[in-house]
Amino acid sequence: MSQNAAAEVRASCQLSLKGKVALVTGAASGIGKRIAEVFAEAGADVVIADLKQDAAQATADEIASKGVRTLAVAMDVTDEAAVDAGFDQVQKAFGPVDILVSNAGIQIVAPIQDFKFSDWKKLLAVHLDGGFLTSRAAVRQMIASGRGGSILFMGSVHSKEASKLKSPYVAAKHGLEGLAKVIAKEGAEHNIRSNVICPGFVRTPLVEKQIPEQAQELGISEDEVVKKVMLKDTVDGQFTTVDDVAQAALTFAAWPSNALTGQSLVVSHGWFMQ
Ligand code: NAD
Repeated sequence: MSQNAAAEVRASCQLSLKGKVALVTGAASGIGKRIAEVFAEAGADVVIADLKQDAAQATADEIASKGVRTLAVAMDVTDEAAVDAGFDQVQKAFGPVDILVSNAGIQIVAPIQDFKFSDWKKLLAVHLDGGFLTSRAAVRQMIASGRGGSILFMGSVHSKEASKLKSPYVAAKHGLEGLAKVIAKEGAEHNIRSNVICPGFVRTPLVEKQIPEQAQELGISEDEVVKKVMLKDTVDGQFTTVDDVAQAALTFAAWPSNALTGQSLVVSHGWFMQ
């Protein structure tokens, strides 16, 4: 790293996103919402992209109180036309996107012998089609602007490890790592970085829903699902928090050079160790 680049890294330790336009998918809830809040605190204009306009708008209104510009965009990440139209809307309102967090996600649990093909396709569509469509739209704007940018995919410890009952989720989260690495290679000449964050269990609506579902499938209590399934392999029996994930996202988003690209960072209380 050159001295100039090192000075840039030192300056970026303040982790400012001033002047940047950040689009976060699935930002009306859970991890995505906290990332949008933290990015706004760091000075970015934030776009809240989520399935429903009213949910996205409520979050955008809440975050606007931090003194940044916000925009709510109704976007189903599995719908090519909706994704492209959403990115056009952002370009017209704020200019090109500098940071994408492809975060929207769902969970469906069942043993593979009972997994409905329609559920398999639905889950892959949200995570993989959504990751592809949103990153393609972001890369197009980043190349056209000449400014490059930072793309973040929301992976999971399930990008590295498997768990029972989660065949499409584990397949999709592993797949996002491959997509991120390709974009890191193709994007480098355009100053586009691409990385993956891999959280452990975070108590969001996505996880709250699966606690009773897993209890039923595995024939154990909800407390046992938490202690003996979800947090069993952590170093301290703790859930990861939305803040833990948002701070990791801020570091990736603010990092100024291609030194930090094609990587995945596991934030999981030691559940998975590299
Ligand atoms: P959440 O349910 O709180 O939020 C998910 C958001 O995605 C919701 O606002 C939902 O409306 C939106 N969404 C769903 N389908 C969409 C679609 N087709 N288009 C646009 N938006 C859509 O869940 P969360 O826990 O915050 O999960 C966010 C991401 O983090 C997901 O990719 C998930 O797989 C990942 N993740 C979560 C955990 C965890 O333990 N919670 C752990 C690792 C990774």
